[in-house]
Amino acid sequence: MSKKPKLDSALEERPGVIQKESVNPKAAQNIKKLRNAPVNVGQLKVAILAGDPVALSRGITLVESTATKHQKMAQQLILECLPHTKSSLRIGITGVPGVGKSTFIEQFGNLLIDQGKKVAVLAIDPSSSVNQGSILGDKTRMDTLVRSNDAFIRPSASGESLGGVARKTREAIVLCEAAGYDYILIETVGVGQSETAVHSMTDFFLLLKLAGAGDELQGIKRGIIEMADAIVINKADGENQKAARLAKTEFNRALHLYPSKENGWSPKTLTCSAIENQGIQEVFAMIKDFEKLTKKNKHFEARRKTQQEYWFKQTVNNTLLDSFYKNPKVLKEMQVLLSAMRNNELTPFEAAYRLLSKVE
Ligand code: GDP
Repeated sequence: MSKKPKLDSALEERPGVIQKESVNPKAAQNIKKLRNAPVNVGQLKVAILAGDPVALSRGITLVESTATKHQKMAQQLILECLPHTKSSLRIGITGVPGVGKSTFIEQFGNLLIDQGKKVAVLAIDPSSSVNQGSILGDKTRMDTLVRSNDAFIRPSASGESLGGVARKTREAIVLCEAAGYDYILIETVGVGQSETAVHSMTDFFLLLKLAGAGDELQGIKRGIIEMADAIVINKADGENQKAARLAKTEFNRALHLYPSKENGWSPKTLTCSAIENQGIQEVFAMIKDFEKLTKKNKHFEARRKTQQEYWFKQTVNNTLLDSFYKNPKVLKEMQVLLSAMRNNELTPFEAAYRLLSKVE
């Protein structure tokens, strides 16, 4: 430890607490490199395909940019990377804050890396912004993962709308696959429709839960159970073990009430302790079973195709809406119609029809 600095005057300031080294010592260097280099899509693609994490970061930054120029470049980059994407397994992980997502991902990611795989971790959190603490914002719980050369961790894109954030994440997946990542973990907190977004871009959807006071199913959205390929009850350690086992039985029973899935997979319930690294191997084995089954019966590809169609339609919808509300004619007419509506001269439906007829 360094000695306390001697102060000559009462007005002199102490240097304060010595800042800890950045979690990822390479990050500062990378950011500097990133900022300085001009964007060249061709070069970026070559570097991404070579597995350069700086280039990958840069590509994702391009995808996240709202500038029209960047968006055009991002689309070109994605198109060029698309033919080179490695076949990966995309796993969605959701759960309330504090359930242990980061801790789980840290252990799970390390397990994959120990098997010689490369892991990318992306997040969807529409409420996050650069300055707010967001999921993955505090990466300290992914301490070893963050330092690994075989892991790439990217916090959620910031943005107002879930649609926008989700689209950017989906495009980031393509770039990660082009960079050779074998497993893409997409994390989200269970808020709003973010689980649906994650479900619509992953091959396997894992719901992390905690054992409660017995009434496990309360407060859990029906749709989430329907989406889940597995429910994993975390923190099954210490005094919690018994409750976790009970929760497992209860969730199992609940899962059986749902009609079986078209892909032939019956969703599983497992327990684990992320902090003690117990049960993680079993989760991995289960996911491999799922992959084997759905690849064999071709539902794996079918799910991806359905997702592509979903994203195609989503993009058309979003683009239409966007251009509609930016149309000066619409903006002008909307004011007139809104005012007529306020004066009870028009019903909302009539006003809507009139507005739509203006841009036909
Ligand atoms: P997240 O908000 O879902 O990402 O949850 P975190 O991974 O940050 O974990 C929240 C808290 O729960 C932290 O204090 C973790 O140390 C703790 N935690 C995570 N997994 C376990 C576990 O398996 N057992 C116990 N007892 N605590 C855990």
